[in-house]
Amino acid sequence: MSYQHQNPTAAPATKHTEIDAVVVGAGFAGMYMLHRLREIGVSARVFETGDGVGGTWYWNRYPGARVDSPSMQYSLSFSSEMEQEWNWSEDYSPQQDLEAYANHVADRFHLRDDIQFGTRVVSSVYDEATERWIIETDRGDQVSAKYLITAAGCLSATNVPNFKGIESFEGQWYHTSRWPREGVDLKGKRVGIIGTGSTGIQAITAMAKEVDHLTVFQRTPNFSLPSNNKKMDPDYERGWKARYPEHRQNARESRGGAEVIAYPQQSALEVSEEERNKVYEAAWGQGAFTLIASFTDLMVSKEANDTIAEFVRNKIRQTVKDPVTAELLAPKGYPLGTKRLCVDTGYFETYNRDNVQLVDVKTNQIKEITTRGVRLEDGTDYDVDILVFATGFDAMTGPLFRMGIVGKDGLSLQDKWDAGPRTYLGISTVGFPNMFMITGPGSPSVLSNMTTSIEQHVDWITDAISYLKRNALDKIEATQDAEDRWVEHVNEVADKTLYPHANSWYLGANIPGKPRVFMPYVGGVGNYRRKCDEVAANDYEGFALGATPSS
Ligand code: NAP
Repeated sequence: MSYQHQNPTAAPATKHTEIDAVVVGAGFAGMYMLHRLREIGVSARVFETGDGVGGTWYWNRYPGARVDSPSMQYSLSFSSEMEQEWNWSEDYSPQQDLEAYANHVADRFHLRDDIQFGTRVVSSVYDEATERWIIETDRGDQVSAKYLITAAGCLSATNVPNFKGIESFEGQWYHTSRWPREGVDLKGKRVGIIGTGSTGIQAITAMAKEVDHLTVFQRTPNFSLPSNNKKMDPDYERGWKARYPEHRQNARESRGGAEVIAYPQQSALEVSEEERNKVYEAAWGQGAFTLIASFTDLMVSKEANDTIAEFVRNKIRQTVKDPVTAELLAPKGYPLGTKRLCVDTGYFETYNRDNVQLVDVKTNQIKEITTRGVRLEDGTDYDVDILVFATGFDAMTGPLFRMGIVGKDGLSLQDKWDAGPRTYLGISTVGFPNMFMITGPGSPSVLSNMTTSIEQHVDWITDAISYLKRNALDKIEATQDAEDRWVEHVNEVADKTLYPHANSWYLGANIPGKPRVFMPYVGGVGNYRRKCDEVAANDYEGFALGATPSS
């Protein structure tokens, strides 16, 4: 697959350009939003920091980057022609395929004409006098828009921990989500990597095969499941395409935004240990997230969860030859699935290689970065040529805060959410009229197959704007009561699960000082969609609608 990087892009906006909608971000969310806005005759400009489309799949080009939702489902469904014509090369697509697909979407729907690349939104202020958003960029654009739509993703604000001495390091260092387009020559190098989340697990597996020596600095071990990825079987693909509408509908009504063959009916505690392990083995063989759907209560009962956690720990112990390393890699102290489950292609086997060393930085923390590498609290030094930070993101709220959003009464989003994000449906927040968040906090977002959730939000937002137009209205803002009730509901359903029992980025626990609030909506994609549809059918219940005096 090939595509052009030097494609045409929208001409820079001039000062005080007036437009109906500004969309921030040109990943799948921003691109589909632009497409739908055009369809309903709403003028739009997309600002994108990168110099190409694809969002996550533009930025995360580290070795081994790959999606862990099935390719046939991690794609856009709005164009049946595109759905039929596009071919995926593997069951789980690598970054290169997803970036090529994103470029295909942009080309196919001529989206670049309205996307301004290489441009970061630095300020988005609601002007109460004109009831418009004034958006400013790092390139000096100043645009006045009726609607502000955020499509910057949940995991785009990179987190490089504030390690002492980082500026003194004489080698090269990279954050995985800012990996150079031209790649990094790892051959013959001593590489250190900090972080063993989904990203680290993929990067470690891939880099170990290239480098001279890899030192992995692990603070918290993660549960990781085999993807069992393989080349796409053309018969499977044909079969899937023949029933695409049905598959998509099942995904939309599912819990996690991807089709599930059969939902579990039994508790893990209702069956014998032997029977349970048989079920786990079968699910392990199918790969990826199938395991977590083995029984009804794995995410709500600690006792049930203990059985699956021990099953996975035993898999790790069987795979990793050195028992000390195996025990260090076996996650303990939090339920399986409460930190984002990882999916891998030979991660644990990587530790059987002679050129890979695991270093525990939980009991003996990283003290500082030196000119030559990493120093731990006890004074042990690890010299490296290249240091890789797979240290994650300021998730969900981070990308929004970096846009400098200020709503009514001069209140910044950051100040409003000082104690954690508060939204209505994860789409809207009181005090910020005509601002829509695609996959914002309080929606299923990161707990779902993202493309399903992105399309649902974009369609809902498009319908809402169309409704306003049809009724000669142009103002929409969540009401306080609706927001309070939604926040209460989001917390209530999260508290019924085991999710709050881990220090995860879902709770903001990875960022020092971030309030501990469970951010995504755990009630399920299908239920959530029904709630959103009901709100729309009831004339946007929970929103205050109005018309600006001049409209
Ligand atoms: P992450 O899950 O937040 O992992 C960051 C890692 O860095 C953790 O192991 C963390 O340890 C470690 N870390 C952070 N600060 C540290 C410090 N000061 N000292 C030592 N270690 C430190 O980030 P990620 O791996 O980039 O993944 C983020 C999310 O992106 C995933 O959960 C997933 O949703 C998405 N993602 C998806 C895919 C995919 O679809 N295939 C691939 C990659 C990422 P602690 O756990 O102790 O904090």
